Amino acid sequence: MIFLMNYHIFNDRRDTKAVGSVLRIERTSIHDGEGLRTVLFLKGCPLRCRWCSTPESQEPALQKGYARDRCLGCGICVRACPQGALSMSEDGQRIIFNSSKCKNCFACVRKCPQRAWKKYGSLMSVQEVVREISKDEVFYFHSGGGLTVSGGEPLYQSDFVLEVIRECRALGIHTAMETSLYAPWENIKKILPWINVLYVDIKQMDRTLHKNWVGVENTLILDNILKVDKSSNPLEIIVRIPLIPGANDSDANLIATALFCKSLKKLIEIEILPYHRLGVETYKNLDTSYQLKELVPPSQERILERADFLSGQIPNVSVRVGGEIY
Ligand code: SF4
Ligand code: SF4
Repeated sequence: MIFLMNYHIFNDRRDTKAVGSVLRIERTSIHDGEGLRTVLFLKGCPLRCRWCSTPESQEPALQKGYARDRCLGCGICVRACPQGALSMSEDGQRIIFNSSKCKNCFACVRKCPQRAWKKYGSLMSVQEVVREISKDEVFYFHSGGGLTVSGGEPLYQSDFVLEVIRECRALGIHTAMETSLYAPWENIKKILPWINVLYVDIKQMDRTLHKNWVGVENTLILDNILKVDKSSNPLEIIVRIPLIPGANDSDANLIATALFCKSLKKLIEIEILPYHRLGVETYKNLDTSYQLKELVPPSQERILERADFLSGQIPNVSVRVGGEIY
């Protein structure tokens, strides 16, 4: 509930300025929809999945991280900081950061010769974002690709997303969105007419386990998936399952997920996203702890066995893993 409140406040603030908190824009991705995609990653997410591989996307505000192993201890950033928020440790081996003094001017990021300081995110207008996206139009035309809006959680900035995708559709660009659908229905409803393909995660069917692993219950998410499916918008749904050992890879959860998916008329595919440990370094840079330190990624054999099991539960729908259909 706290997160939902925050995000109303955040949306109101952003919308008046028509500015979005953008994590990054990636070009020519082949993993986020049909053809070559430009992926707009936005900051801000109301979920806290323990396996999150992009912790720098969780907070809506711009952030910075410090990669200690790149730091030479030259002290340039300490001298560059106008707020006195940085100091050298006694042994001269690392920088001590006082967040209460920092005003996010990012002078430390600009001045560091080692790129030990990293800036996560930038504020961009709708026009700036659309300009960047439309630079790739030639790739969309030849590959059948387009724009994929991702996060964080794109619906955290739903009015900004609406403006971006409306502009893109006016330019004839195919649009997809990757979302948890953990958002008020009115924020989802207004976007649906402008979306061609909706990628939605189902992380765990059990409400209590979902809260334990993701930080919120799944009721709103499942309700919203059903509402999207019943809506008159002619979009396609692809369900994604992040396959996390011990969290959601049990027979019981895959059976329950398949049962739920069987009722979806707009569903065209289920995609399994196996657990990986990319992003662990970013937790260090942000000085936050990674909760799944001991978790071992599933073997290829286990991934394929789980895909096969899931496919057996819902034979009329394609199950995809790493580009292959099962
Ligand atoms: S400027 Fe960069 S390399 Fe030098 S002390 Fe600061 S973080 Fe380390
Ligand atoms: S962002 Fe600006 S105020 Fe904050 S630590 Fe860096 S230089 Fe100092």
